[in-house]
Amino acid sequence: MARIVQKFGGTSVGDIDRIKNVARRVKATFDAGNQVAVVVSAMSGVTNQLVDYCRQVAPNYDFREYDAVVSTGEQVTTGLLALALQELGVPSRSWMGWQVPIRSDSAHSKARIEGIDTASLITEMAAGFVPVVAGFQGVGPGNRITTLGRGGSDTSAVALAAALHADRCDIYTDVDGVYTADPRIVARPRKLDKITYEEMLEMASLGAKVLQTRSVEMAMKHRVLVQVLSSFTDSPGTLVCDEEEIVERQIVSGITYSRDEAKITLIKVSDRPGVAAAIFGPLADANINVDMIVQNISEDGSKTDLTFTVAKTDLEQAIAVISGKKDDIGYVRLVPDPNVVKVSVIGVGMRSHAGIAQTMFTTLAERSINIKVISTSEIKVSVLIAEEYTELALRALHSAYGLDAA
Ligand code: ASP
Ligand code: MG
Repeated sequence: MARIVQKFGGTSVGDIDRIKNVARRVKATFDAGNQVAVVVSAMSGVTNQLVDYCRQVAPNYDFREYDAVVSTGEQVTTGLLALALQELGVPSRSWMGWQVPIRSDSAHSKARIEGIDTASLITEMAAGFVPVVAGFQGVGPGNRITTLGRGGSDTSAVALAAALHADRCDIYTDVDGVYTADPRIVARPRKLDKITYEEMLEMASLGAKVLQTRSVEMAMKHRVLVQVLSSFTDSPGTLVCDEEEIVERQIVSGITYSRDEAKITLIKVSDRPGVAAAIFGPLADANINVDMIVQNISEDGSKTDLTFTVAKTDLEQAIAVISGKKDDIGYVRLVPDPNVVKVSVIGVGMRSHAGIAQTMFTTLAERSINIKVISTSEIKVSVLIAEEYTELALRALHSAYGLDAA
């Protein structure tokens, strides 16, 4: 007997037939003698609709009430799935975040889970029930409902699996695994049997939409075995696991892209101590995350250009913040560029193999794609290029690293 957490995303519970289909899957795992706890998202499209309602009523909505509204999508699917399981003869109950409880901090709309009291769920499973838990929500100080950020039900599932010491956390989503690159762009992507936590974390944070980044962080921290798979096929998915469990390791595991980037260049910034602090301090104060940064040494020791990237959604605000500090910083001109994409090559094999970055630079050069900014870490190389080259760059790199499926 194993204890398994199964999580079903919005597409998997997108309509009544699909919910019934999910119930059959859960029943199969349950009938095989396992203890199963289920986590569900809202039906696809529902959370967007709820967010939109909030905007219509109050453009600058209070995040506490936003959470009260947008968490309701999951309440519907938990109840419906519990009913569908009962119809199949599987004893089942729905559980809202506050009922478990899944305790979170008070950061409404992006709360962090602080702890899960598992006693009731454990008793419930021991009594032969399948608990169906609402993803994406928790309960904060003062018993207020919180939500965990968009895509947060992945994190709910992994956190629950960690707290329950589950043998595995199966995440059913709309793709049947983790691919070497986005199948909508690359012609012959390959599905990975296994991927390390570290690589999955980079992939998620560098643009792959398959798992919420925070859920991967949590899986890595608590060593939760995560399997990504589809509720529509029976094909084996991708296992996210420790490096030691991967026998056939590739040097590069995946190539991601993110269009959610914007570049700002400050022309003729004075080259003196304190300038970086004068630029990035106010951005941090405004809660704007800066990602890539390049600064050159000035030739004559007086002026240089400085380029950095922020999320596209933060661009306007970043321009306002920097322009407001123009005198403190001392620059001549600010040049914004929202038409950029960040392309990243990821693989733990980079730790032991040289030349990975070089292959990337050569491949892009051969296609006459200009690199605007570069950043690297131990297991990834990212470049910023013009957005119009996204497809070309991804396809060329996918072939260059030998990732195309046979
Ligand atoms: N329903 C929530 C969302 O759309 C949570 C989730 O699906 O993971 O963000
Ligand atoms: Mg999701």
